[in-house]
Amino acid sequence: MSTQRIAPKRWLIQVMLLVSQILIPFVTINGNPFLRIDIGLRTFFMGGAPVRIDQFYLVLLLTLAMLAGFLLVTVLLGRVWCGWFCPQTVLNDLADLFLRRFKRVLPPALLKFGWHIVALLIAMLVSAILLFWFQAPSTVIKGVIDYRSHPVIFSSFFILTFLIYLDVVLVQRSFCRSYCPYGRLQTALMDEGTLNLAFLEETRNRCLRCSSCVSACPMEIDIRNGFQIECISCGRCIDACRTIMERRDRSDGLIAYRFGQGYKLRIGLKTVILLALFAVISGSVAWGVFSRSDTAFTVQRNATAETRTMPDGSQIQAWRAVIGNRGTKPEVYSIDLSQSSPGLKTELLGPITTIRVAPNENQQVDFSIRFSSAPVSGRKMALRLNRSGLPVTTVHVQQ
Ligand code: SF4
Ligand code: SF4
Repeated sequence: MSTQRIAPKRWLIQVMLLVSQILIPFVTINGNPFLRIDIGLRTFFMGGAPVRIDQFYLVLLLTLAMLAGFLLVTVLLGRVWCGWFCPQTVLNDLADLFLRRFKRVLPPALLKFGWHIVALLIAMLVSAILLFWFQAPSTVIKGVIDYRSHPVIFSSFFILTFLIYLDVVLVQRSFCRSYCPYGRLQTALMDEGTLNLAFLEETRNRCLRCSSCVSACPMEIDIRNGFQIECISCGRCIDACRTIMERRDRSDGLIAYRFGQGYKLRIGLKTVILLALFAVISGSVAWGVFSRSDTAFTVQRNATAETRTMPDGSQIQAWRAVIGNRGTKPEVYSIDLSQSSPGLKTELLGPITTIRVAPNENQQVDFSIRFSSAPVSGRKMALRLNRSGLPVTTVHVQQ
């Protein structure tokens, strides 16, 4: 058993998480945000790749992958997410840190006032970080400073700040104890191999009954009574007991992390299934994101328009194309015929050149195809889409 403290590791992880959440919205790849659900552009940027609204099945897949990942972590590590990574815990830990640090140096009235100011600053920071995930940071900062530039951002920021402030000063850890749905779900997922906190039965008789473990627990649990589902695996009771036992007789603490009854990770069937699910869905998302096309092109005959026969015997059919620009800048497209049935002279008529399409927009193009002789049903043609004069994709249609 180790006598090292858990708290520095937990703080390191929480600080890294906080810093990464502040920095990630500022990271760009090829001019695109690294990760953002950009509401203004109706685009989800994943690793710098823009996923447009008509490709949002990838977002659904990503959500499923995250769900499988969460379930997997819960089956293996129990409520470690809650005690080490959850933003609600990080907020509460920051608040606790302030109270602990300044309790002895500030008079009670000043401590209370300072506490509300700190809670407000934390709430403002968290609101800004949240909005950064949905809008460019420069837009958010501008919107918060100047109501007229972006009223929605301005009001969202202050509503969020108010709600998070209430969460920090009023709700606190009661949310984890009583309301968090993920906490309830964890109860059903944990099994005999899941990591949890245990008061070690083999050393029970060495317990000093000092209650340091109980005083240190943010969830007000007495771990000596056995595992309780409210336990968020934060490890504070381990540190408290180690400190006491070291002072007393330089021995180890009486509480430890355990996978069920042992110290080794156990991989059961549930874990294997979740791991496989996570790997398959994440792989599909990665494949979908990096193999997706940045242009959509569909063509079909205009079913409501009849074929017209011209005086020279040629026939004209009405067709409709839809061009989707999934890139991040405006593009100019054109359509031409790359292949037609042998012996059939064909010509495209209508606005098929210089088709301008804005990013994340779909443009409908109504055009006609003129055949030198009566088209024979079932014959195939290939229509090519060009972007800035270069071929992008070809679709095959039937006459
Ligand atoms: S029992 Fe220990 S690990 Fe569980 S919440 Fe309390 S202090 Fe944290
Ligand atoms: S801190 Fe350790 S010694 Fe003290 S009551 Fe808790 S388990 Fe017993």
